[in-house]
Amino acid sequence: MHDFEYRGNELFCEDVPVREIVQQVGSPCYIYSHRTLLRHFLAFEDAFKNIPHLVAFAMKANSNLAVLRVLAREGCGADIVSGGELFRALKAGVPPQKMVFAGVGKSAEEIQFALKSNILMFNVESPGELLHINEVAGSLGMRARVALRINPDIDPQTHPYISTGLKKSKFGIRADRALEEFDIAQQLPHIDVVGVHKHIGSQLTKINPFVDALKKILELIGVLQTKGFNIQYLNIGGGLGITYSDETPPHPKDLAAAISPLLATVNCHLIMEPGRSIVGNAGILVTKVLYNKEAETKRFVIVDAAMNDLLRPSLYDAHHDILPVLKDESAPVNAVDVVGPICESGDFLAKDRKMGQLKQGDLLAVMSAGAYGFTMSSNYNSRPRVPEVLIKGQAIMIIRQRESYEDLIRGESIPEVLA
Ligand SMILES: *Cc1c(COP(=O)(O)O)cnc(C)c1O
Repeated sequence: MHDFEYRGNELFCEDVPVREIVQQVGSPCYIYSHRTLLRHFLAFEDAFKNIPHLVAFAMKANSNLAVLRVLAREGCGADIVSGGELFRALKAGVPPQKMVFAGVGKSAEEIQFALKSNILMFNVESPGELLHINEVAGSLGMRARVALRINPDIDPQTHPYISTGLKKSKFGIRADRALEEFDIAQQLPHIDVVGVHKHIGSQLTKINPFVDALKKILELIGVLQTKGFNIQYLNIGGGLGITYSDETPPHPKDLAAAISPLLATVNCHLIMEPGRSIVGNAGILVTKVLYNKEAETKRFVIVDAAMNDLLRPSLYDAHHDILPVLKDESAPVNAVDVVGPICESGDFLAKDRKMGQLKQGDLLAVMSAGAYGFTMSSNYNSRPRVPEVLIKGQAIMIIRQRESYEDLIRGESIPEVLA
């Protein structure tokens, strides 16, 4: 599953002790395993090898250039959601012909940038956006390839914040208006309709929502094809869950087995947009214990990482296992809240977690932090963002330096009048 394992009492990433990595780059830091990344990507490639397909990694999960490069070298594309992600993907060497662009709020500048870069297609999320892309493409004397993102109104049975395919969601075009929108798109002079897209949510741990949503989309594609539309691409989005604690999400093989028979009814190139399932368990956040503190009814372990470094616990009440980098099985176990230095009560990494007694300076590994970890981090409380390190075998590669105080104020200035 991943390559963070104990050898004796000591946690390793691949062949390097985590302690040694921290000696080099300091704490806190993100650490990624090259081997895990690769294995998770190749699991998709292998599962879908009999179907013409493109895996477009959802960059919002982890957009580090080196991480993207590892995947791009194996043939992976990118699912982008902003001009900034397009810029990063190009820098990392992802071929534009393997990029798809989602998101409900694409600006004129972003659309232009994507058209000039000649990306594979836009996943269009509303009638207004469709008209806008047509207009921008026209002004450049170009045509835009698009898929329409359809909201199939399927409950993905996941956290409401990461559920995207219900009627009340801001994403996609309403299923009952889909045909109408395809008709409109077909008639626009600067639009080529090439596909249908859906993405119903993230951290899905059951296969049924995938299948139910796909069936709805296939029905639509069937109708479109009989009406003469040339639907070349079927994009099923991402959303496959990972194990944070005791979830048992489907393997890409299970997904392939469940959906392959259905796909036979349409003759489309399959696109997938996995994010979390590729990088989630390929990364950890390492943090150091600063203080033990006892309130009247609670024990706190105060660590040097905080909600600005890993937002998921605060934002989604998400669970991340927290493991000691050096195990001491004789240590007495207490229930503790693991909290950061930020001045917010919502700043925690774990609550009421049973952990062996810790002391100042001990290192902890916050597991499964490779997806939506660093990418969601911020400078809140003027905390420099932490470094990212890629491990390959025995090699320690710093793929993003720790920010400095100077980095914090880059671009800021004090106007003359305040002199
Ligand atoms: C976030 C997102 C994904 C990736 O979701 P994961 O759960 O990380 O696999 C894929 N497609 C779209 C459109 C997204 O918004």
